[in-house]
Amino acid sequence: MRLRFFFIPLIAISLLLGCQAPKPQAKYVFLFIGDGMGSSHVNLAQIYSDSVLSDTAGINFTRFPVASSSTTFAANRYVTCSAAAGTALSTGSKTSINTIGLNANHTDTLYSIAKRFKEQGRKVAVLTSVSIDHATPAAFYAHAGSRSSYYDIARFIFKSNYDFFASGGFLDPFNEKGDSNSVSIYELGKINGYSFTSSLSAVDSLVQVGAKSIIYSAPNPAPSSTLQYEIDRTTSDISLADITRKAIEVVNNPNGFFIMVEGGKIDWAAHDNDGATVVHDVRAFSKAVDVAVEFYKKHPTETLILVTADHETGGLSIGNRSNKYDIHPQILSSQKASKERLHKLIVDFKANNPKASFDEMLSFLEPYTGFGKSITLSSDETAALRKAYEEVFRSKKTSGEKTTYSETDPISKLVIQIINENAGIGWTSGSHTGEPVPVYAIGAGQELFIPLLDNTDIPKKIVKAAGLSW
Ligand SMILES: [Zn+2]
Repeated sequence: MRLRFFFIPLIAISLLLGCQAPKPQAKYVFLFIGDGMGSSHVNLAQIYSDSVLSDTAGINFTRFPVASSSTTFAANRYVTCSAAAGTALSTGSKTSINTIGLNANHTDTLYSIAKRFKEQGRKVAVLTSVSIDHATPAAFYAHAGSRSSYYDIARFIFKSNYDFFASGGFLDPFNEKGDSNSVSIYELGKINGYSFTSSLSAVDSLVQVGAKSIIYSAPNPAPSSTLQYEIDRTTSDISLADITRKAIEVVNNPNGFFIMVEGGKIDWAAHDNDGATVVHDVRAFSKAVDVAVEFYKKHPTETLILVTADHETGGLSIGNRSNKYDIHPQILSSQKASKERLHKLIVDFKANNPKASFDEMLSFLEPYTGFGKSITLSSDETAALRKAYEEVFRSKKTSGEKTTYSETDPISKLVIQIINENAGIGWTSGSHTGEPVPVYAIGAGQELFIPLLDNTDIPKKIVKAAGLSW
């Protein structure tokens, strides 16, 4: 009898203690944002990795223990943009289209989790494959009523005190869109004690001499100050995985860190309805996540890796009207250049060979498209290409039609369309869609990211997983 009395409270106390046992906290936090990366973008890259490349590792983050999904709508539109969605992911608040880090009617600033991490003693890095002043990275350090005020956005970098920024560069560092007498972003940076470099080894030297904040811009950037598309990247060009690895080296410290990594050109390729380029950029993004996974394996109870997207772009589907139930992902492997690069190649080919025949143009295209070799064109496709050739070679125009993030011409536009149609890829939009986006989590606090989420839940849960105050 006495024994039982003693035993019951003991169970109760140990249960209570069990409940109060401190949960592992995320000292090291990675937030990966695939811009425009819907579930189909991930799945297409997975299918391609598996069936064309026999890459069994494929898109590793799809095997994270927690997989969920998030809604993305903005305060004033069901189909969001990167500014409103980036702000939701960085601050936990909905805002209006094109707004960065402000509330919907621009009367108040919103508080980014990156700032929260910095102010609570963690180091912070913001990385992207596009320019550092673009909407998604900007949402983690800036406040602006218009996402295209690139110079004003970049100036906020110098108020952030974040430790490391890495990207393809700046879009308007000399304020050419505004007051041309402005002090350049580079000068302002120096005045504020920030160091600029385009060399990864120079980043190491700057860390060694105790540089306050380092801003790395890739050498040999692609148009619009971005990293090269993965499909166009040469071995000497910097990848998203390279800058992720460097960021870990720069911000790793006993108090922990927050690293945001954006795969920004998945969106750009999807705006171009360019399936092969999407696949390669999702794979590059996945390789950057793998770098974080290497770190996680060394600190599994103290690291959280979250992978998500800001919105879906293109209305991508696996399967289309012309192929019905068949898809042929191997056709995508015939494409050796992005639509953007193909356009430039065609412009140069026309400049050097203004009298080129239709057959000469087809032979020129073959190494980049597989046309006439791995892809046999139908008579309708050949006729359509001949028409595009006549439009391009009979016109005096050297530049082409503007798309959201690049330029195109009737030939490159049609070539990419033919490849996608034959591969069985469908596109319903050249813009974003309101589709929910995937969420994958591994590590300390992973269980917080289920069930279905809204994008505004994500930063709140990250802060909770990290044991910081909101
Ligand atoms: Zn977009």
